[in-house]
Amino acid sequence: SPTIGVLALQGDVREHLEALTAAGASAVTVRRPEELAAVDGLVLPGGESTTMGKLLRIFDLLDPLRERLAAGMPAYGSCAGMILLASNILDTTPDAVHLNGLDITVRRNAFGRQVDSFETDLDVVRVGGEPMRAVFIRAPWVERVGDGVEVLATVPEGPAAGRVVAVRQGDVLATSFHPEVTGDRRVHALFADMVRERRTSSTPA
Ligand code: GLN
Repeated sequence: SPTIGVLALQGDVREHLEALTAAGASAVTVRRPEELAAVDGLVLPGGESTTMGKLLRIFDLLDPLRERLAAGMPAYGSCAGMILLASNILDTTPDAVHLNGLDITVRRNAFGRQVDSFETDLDVVRVGGEPMRAVFIRAPWVERVGDGVEVLATVPEGPAAGRVVAVRQGDVLATSFHPEVTGDRRVHALFADMVRERRTSSTPA
């Protein structure tokens, strides 16, 4: 099975490790460049994107991570992880880190105070089956998707109806919400499949 790293500088690392393991992947923490070099794919957890960005610099992971993403390493970001992967970020700090893994514009804390945190059921393209319970915690939404970015889910109803909350571009996946906290493993299973397929197709004959 592929080895999937979870960026373990800050955020809900343990939940992602458990979800990946339950989805049949071997999951390891990544805090050092050598650990990053050893994984087949990487999860960027939920947490606080500006803090995680600062820690990426402090831990000398920023350039290695950008290089691996540019070279096609599969990645999955939930919430703060989605923000870090984005090419453009609205409502952030001037020194915010942009990993440029996805050609999207995200707005941080987009849902505003009243619905700061909420849950809803979403139909998510590619995971199949029942609607997915989605937990949003001071979540971003996606305001622009570039060419080649597939929209996987939008908010079905309410004041944010139609807002894009899950996307995929090539081998990079991101959700505004936190499947790692619900016990529904379909997003992690999709990502583990993406990593497996990538590994097979990039293995020299
Ligand atoms: N609001 C956080 C940020 O800006 C993200 C919240 C989360 O990951 N649950 O990074």
